[in-house]
Amino acid sequence: MTTKKELLHEGKAKKVFLTDNPDLVIQEFKDDATAFNNKKKGSIRNKGIVNNAISCKLFTYLQENGVQTHLVEKLSDREMLCKKLSIIMVEVVTRNVAAGSLVRRYGFEEGTVLQEPIIELYLKDDDLDDPLMNDSHALALNLATQEEIATLKAEAAKINQLLRKFFADRKLTLVDFKLEFGRHNGAILLGDEISPDTCRFWDSETGEKMDKDRFRFDLGDVEAAYTEVEHRVLDL
Ligand code: 5GP
Repeated sequence: MTTKKELLHEGKAKKVFLTDNPDLVIQEFKDDATAFNNKKKGSIRNKGIVNNAISCKLFTYLQENGVQTHLVEKLSDREMLCKKLSIIMVEVVTRNVAAGSLVRRYGFEEGTVLQEPIIELYLKDDDLDDPLMNDSHALALNLATQEEIATLKAEAAKINQLLRKFFADRKLTLVDFKLEFGRHNGAILLGDEISPDTCRFWDSETGEKMDKDRFRFDLGDVEAAYTEVEHRVLDL
């Protein structure tokens, strides 16, 4: 039994607690929803429960397929027991279909299928609005070594292959997603969460958006979309 101790960090969607084991933390998923770097705030009923269930299932699937992650076990509806990482302050975004900031920044038409996935690095810094950066920026900021940056991109590409297949089998197109990684005993592990908060999913048949864009752009039926993704991911 791992005992929950004091709050280590509170983010927009999760709280992280220390435990009686210095190597383990507990991620607690909240219902709070934010978008546009906190400019839009709200809440999605049961989001924490749904995102914890989806994340635990996806991290387990990735682990079974050779990806090292921080997941130890799902503890409860909202709690995930994780290895304690030293977080690398880089957000790794992988894109299969043009949407979101790719459309705004480069003029792609939304929905354009990319011939090859695009992998982007962003500085994880809310005060600076998470700016897009290249390897040189990450090196200059001492965020990671060149070798680590190569590992982040290789892991993102591998995770993309696995997740695309996983979601395609469930009639969801994985449009894009954001990953975070951390260091643990000399290895780089996948951290954070993978959920409709951090990915774009479109229904493969209808093209309907099934992710946080429903909240961002007031498209309605936010809770229903998250629940539908949960049902498909968990094969319910
Ligand atoms: P975009 O750059 O188009 O806004 O986002 C690309 C993908 O990464 C989307 O699936 C989006 O949800 C995810 N993403 C990018 N930055 C963040 C972030 O700071 N927080 C969360 N939760 N997701 C992000």
